[in-house]
Amino acid sequence: MKLETLAIHGGNQISEKEKPVVQPITLSTTFMHQEDSMVYSRANNPNRQALEKLLTRLEFGEDAAAFSSGNAAGVAVFQALDPGSHLVAPDDMYHGLRAAILDLFDGVLEVDFVDMTDPENVSKALKPNTKLIWLETPSNPLLKISDIHAIAEISKGAGTILVSDNTFATPVFQNPILLGADIVMHSSTKFFGGHSDIMGGALITKKEDSFWKKIRNVQKMGGAVPSPMDCYFLCRSIKTLPYRMKGHAEHAGQLATFLMAHPGVEAVYYPGLVSHPGYSVASKQMSGFGGVLSFLVKNGAEAADHLISNLKYFTNATSLGGVESLIERRAESENAETLTPQNLIRVSVGLEHLDDLLADMDQALAAI
Ligand SMILES: *Cc1c(COP(=O)(O)O)cnc(C)c1O
Repeated sequence: MKLETLAIHGGNQISEKEKPVVQPITLSTTFMHQEDSMVYSRANNPNRQALEKLLTRLEFGEDAAAFSSGNAAGVAVFQALDPGSHLVAPDDMYHGLRAAILDLFDGVLEVDFVDMTDPENVSKALKPNTKLIWLETPSNPLLKISDIHAIAEISKGAGTILVSDNTFATPVFQNPILLGADIVMHSSTKFFGGHSDIMGGALITKKEDSFWKKIRNVQKMGGAVPSPMDCYFLCRSIKTLPYRMKGHAEHAGQLATFLMAHPGVEAVYYPGLVSHPGYSVASKQMSGFGGVLSFLVKNGAEAADHLISNLKYFTNATSLGGVESLIERRAESENAETLTPQNLIRVSVGLEHLDDLLADMDQALAAI
């Protein structure tokens, strides 16, 4: 089954006699005791099972676990590690998960943050107690590209677990398991949900091994699970994911090219630009470059804020992956020690007509 077909038919589990075309939402928290039945909704329910099966197939894994947010999915991985474990993570890691490691696991896990655009830095950071390598490519918000296959080889050699945050690429453009990763992580809040109205997260595993069983235990006992409604809406949204991603990537590529040529712009970060340092690795491991880009405005944070306030169609808000274009001066949403430049603007390029988006950006840049 091709991706577009799987996205539409893969998340639909119909068992009723009435044979509805769309799977109903099962709100019941509990199930009648009988052989092989589901028991309690925190452990499993029909809508979550449909979503997990769909995610498993989209990312070429053996199993998937859905969570109530991307952070809950990431934290479940860290909770499954033995105390005293060391992990290597990217210097441009999603700030919320970076904060989770540093705050929630302070004194429990050791971590080193390195620039993974050079795989050599990952090798150098390995220690005898390194248990896990965390990867994020393209990264948030600098759109750094790391070589998944090269880092997977390093991980295999060291006997560590490689987890790849695939939120920016989505399975439409990149499949980390096929490139050697052990676990794929997603914030389903972003492109999977696609309409800025669902929180969710997911993990997909290559193998149902003992580490995965621990993660399943964290999911069940920690209980950070999505509701049947959330799972239903995610299955519904994923039906259009392949077509939405094509539109997002087309618009982001065009906006990146436009910004590159503009005298008010200092730099543009989008892996689809030939001038991006990660372009050749991105071309090798991705079939499209995604819908998010960042750029630096000349004349600092004040000019960046001014630009954003001049826009009509790009809403000044955090998050990404929705049909509506969102924009923010990213450092404002991160913590005080952030490495993100103060004049960096991150754009989630939406599915409005491209002409409207380009004209809006043009007039807003002209006015600063
Ligand atoms: C948003 C995001 C997360 C966290 O997901 P939530 O759903 O907000 O908890 C993790 N990784 C990346 C790359 C993200 O963009």
